[in-house]
Amino acid sequence: MKVLAVLYKGLEAARQEPRLLGTVENQLGISSWLKSLGHEFIVTDDKEGPNSVFQKNLKDAEVVITTPFHPGYLTRDLIEQAKNLKLCVTAGVGSDHIDLDAAVDHKIQVLEVTGSNVTSVAEHAVMSILALVRNFVPAHEMIERGDWNVSEVARNAFDLENKVVGTLGAGRIGYRILQRLKPFGCKELLYYDYNPLPAEANKDLGARRVEDLKEFVSQLDVLTVNAPLHPGTKGLINRDLLQHFKTGAWIVNTARGAICDKDAIAEALKTGKINGYSGDVWNVQPAPKDHIWRTMKNPLGGGNGMVPHYSGTTLDAQKRYADGTRQILQNHFEGKPQDPANVIVGTGKYETKSYGQR
Ligand code: NAP
Repeated sequence: MKVLAVLYKGLEAARQEPRLLGTVENQLGISSWLKSLGHEFIVTDDKEGPNSVFQKNLKDAEVVITTPFHPGYLTRDLIEQAKNLKLCVTAGVGSDHIDLDAAVDHKIQVLEVTGSNVTSVAEHAVMSILALVRNFVPAHEMIERGDWNVSEVARNAFDLENKVVGTLGAGRIGYRILQRLKPFGCKELLYYDYNPLPAEANKDLGARRVEDLKEFVSQLDVLTVNAPLHPGTKGLINRDLLQHFKTGAWIVNTARGAICDKDAIAEALKTGKINGYSGDVWNVQPAPKDHIWRTMKNPLGGGNGMVPHYSGTTLDAQKRYADGTRQILQNHFEGKPQDPANVIVGTGKYETKSYGQR
């Protein structure tokens, strides 16, 4: 069977650090296992255009593995050319790089390693909230420059205590962020989701659900975005919605870049409508060198906490999603049932509501 994986190049770092499993070099740690079972395993980072290794090998591959960190975009057109394709595995969480409707139509299963990096992302989001609210990045840059001017950075530094923080999407990651924020003594923890949190899960948290999106954002000092990218969330945070935010709010988006309108965010930051924007996810990955989110700033020259897509790919997370990928493949080879939590698209139908199917 032909198994095709699109991973990112780890280069020298991956040669020195074998725990960088999600790289072309270390091949999720499954290369010799797959070969010992007699399967052909093609691994590449070359994914764009009809002559890429990805697109050429897709035509007769039965299994495709990609990570959200360096996504092999599976459009309807490519899915229609992939006559043998039966299974797409996302080594991580988030399958918006696949045309899921096309996968349903062509009876191609889509599985994720659900939960594999949710704690990793939640920790990153909490760190990013603190870094923005406390104006950490400009303060550190000042020190590296050799300067020392406390008031220059203190004039835009606040405490998280007594602020209102809300999550758009209160699933595995959103819930974990709220849990981790609880000890900070925020004024209120809010959430916006289709479903209320289970009463038991919310008992100690005491988070309040707001059902109207505009009303939700208008109450927040900090928004954290934790919903999947689907037609209902694409561009959801746009010029119109930004007008309903409190002036000076902070936004942390570790879900998917395209949930936020790129130019509307840059403009809102430039004018000071929002005081900061942080995250690791971009509308296109890798982000082009001139992507405005790399350099955008608030009127005081700070408020940018952007990093490459790595919050969910700590070494701990890589071990979990590599092991989970192997288990999914093993079930597929042996015809065993998959863990239902991992199934996004089953044979010919959606098995999750998270992508807007309800
Ligand atoms: P999850 O457990 O499925 O939670 C997602 C939550 O969002 C669900 O509660 C879902 O509601 C809700 N939702 C869907 N559409 C919504 C909308 N329009 N408005 C409000 N809520 C909505 O997923 P997760 O594990 O927390 O992951 C969330 C997302 O984070 C993933 O889809 C992925 O894109 C991203 N992620 C990023 C990284 C990274 O490295 N940066 C790593 C992992 C995941 P229902 O349950 O009612 O459908």
